[in-house]
Amino acid sequence: MGKRVIVIGAGAAGLIAAWSAAANGASVTLLEKMQASGRKLLITGAGRCNVTNSNDIDAFIQKYFSKGRFLYPAFNNFFREDLLKLLETEGLRFITEPNGKIFPASGKAGDILVALNSLNIKVNVRVITGEAVKSLQIEDGRIVGVNTENSSYNADAVILAAGGTSWPGTGSSGDGCRLAASIGHKIEMLRPALVPIVIEAEWLRELKGISLQQTDVQLLCNGRKKASDRGELLFTHFGLSGPVILRLSRNLPDFSLKQKTGEEAAWQLKIDLAPNASVSSLLEIWRTAISANPARSLINCLGEPFPARLTAALMQQYGISRDIRAADVGMGKLEAMASGCKGLALNIAGTRGYREAMVTAGGVSLKEVDPRSMLSRLVPGLYFAGEVLDIDGDTGGYNLQAAFSTGVLAGLHAASDH
Ligand SMILES: Cc1cc2nc3c(=O)[nH]c(=O)nc-3n(C[C@H](O)[C@H](O)[C@H](O)COP(=O)(O)OP(=O)(O)OC[C@H]3O[C@@H](n4cnc5c(N)ncnc54)[C@H](O)[C@@H]3O)c2cc1C
Repeated sequence: MGKRVIVIGAGAAGLIAAWSAAANGASVTLLEKMQASGRKLLITGAGRCNVTNSNDIDAFIQKYFSKGRFLYPAFNNFFREDLLKLLETEGLRFITEPNGKIFPASGKAGDILVALNSLNIKVNVRVITGEAVKSLQIEDGRIVGVNTENSSYNADAVILAAGGTSWPGTGSSGDGCRLAASIGHKIEMLRPALVPIVIEAEWLRELKGISLQQTDVQLLCNGRKKASDRGELLFTHFGLSGPVILRLSRNLPDFSLKQKTGEEAAWQLKIDLAPNASVSSLLEIWRTAISANPARSLINCLGEPFPARLTAALMQQYGISRDIRAADVGMGKLEAMASGCKGLALNIAGTRGYREAMVTAGGVSLKEVDPRSMLSRLVPGLYFAGEVLDIDGDTGGYNLQAAFSTGVLAGLHAASDH
C-alpha cells in the first residue's frame, strides 16, 4: 500500500496536492473545513478565474516581490503548460488575453473546480468536507496525523494547504498559520495584501471612478520611503485602488492590530499624477492653453493632462476658484498646483482589510521550508503548499499558479519521500 497522506484544505493548492500525491501512489484523504471544496476558487478573477499567466518563468518569478526565487523548483517541476494540459484532460480550453492573463474559455471559475474535483475522483482521493483540522499530532518530533473536532486521522505525511487569512468567509481564516505555529514554525508578519487603501481626505471622494493610467507612487513611513511603484491608479469612494495601489499595499501593516501592537507609525502616499511631464512642461501645457483662450473659464481651458473632475479638485486644493477666467489666474497658484501634481501627499488611514484583500502577505517562513520538496525543515513528514506560505504575488494569475505548483510538488514528495 502507498503512503497515507492527509491534505488539510481543499483550495487550489490542496486540491491539486491531493491529486498529485494520489497520482504518485499515495492513499490520500483531503480534509476541508467548509461544506464544499474550492469556495475561494469560485470567486477568483471575478468569477472567471485568472488561472495563470503567459509570462515566461523568469518574468513570473519577478511577480512575487522579493520571494520569487523560492518558487523556481516548484515551477521547474510543474508550470503553466503542465497545468493547462492537466486541466485540458478534463475538457477545459483556455484563452489568453492581450495582457497575458489566462482564463478558462468558458469564462467560468466553476469549471476549474469541477475539473480538479474530477481529477481527484479518478485517483481515488477521499474528500471529507465539513471537517476542520484542529491540531496536528506529533510523535518523536515527526508528524503522525491530525485531529478534527470529532475524529483523528493517522498519516505518514501531512500537507498543510489551509490558505491565508483573506476573505475569511471562504474558509481561509488563518488556521493554516495557527497550526504551523503550534508546532514551532515561524510565521512572518501576516497582513492583507492586494488590498485598496483608505484615505480620509474628503476632497478625494469627488474623484470616485477616475483612473489614471500612469502614476508614480511612493509609500512613506514616518517620512521615509518604504516602497515605490508605477502604474494605473483608481480613485474610489473610500480612497485609492488600482494595480499600483494594490501592489504597494503589501508593505503596509495590518491596521486592525494597531491598538494591540501600539503601531504609531504615520503612513503616507506621495503620488506623481503625471510622471511623464515635468513641472515646467505641465506649466507650459497650461500656459499655452490659457493664452489660446484667455476669456474662457480656467476649468474648461486646462483640458490636459487630467480629467476635468480631477483638475477642478486640484484647483480647489490650490485655492483657485472654479469659476475664474483663464486670464485671471495667478501664475504663483498655477505653479503650486503643477508642483503639487508631481508630489501629491496623502495620509493613509488604513486598508480595506482581510475582507477585501485578494491575498495574505506573510505566513510560514520560507527559511523553514525546503523549496525542492515543500517539506518542513523542522518537522519530518509535514509539507506546505499555497498561500499559507510567506509568499504573495501580483494580480494576473500568479497567486493561483504558485498554489498549483507548490501543491503538485508537495504532493509528489509527500507520496514518495521517506
Ligand atoms: C476575490 C479574490 C479573487 C482572486 N482572484 C485571483 C485570480 O483571478 N488569480 C489568481 O491567481 N489568484 C486570485 N486570487 C488569489 C487566490 O485565490 C489565492 O491565492 C489561492 O486561492 C490560494 O490557494 P490556497 O489553496 O493556498 O488557499 P485557499 O484557496 O484559501 O484554500 C484554503 C482551504 O483550506 C480550508 N481550510 C482552512 N482551514 C482549515 C482547517 N482548519 N481544516 C480544514 N480545511 C481548512 C479553507 O476552507 C479553504 O478551502 C483571488 C483571491 C480573492 C480573494
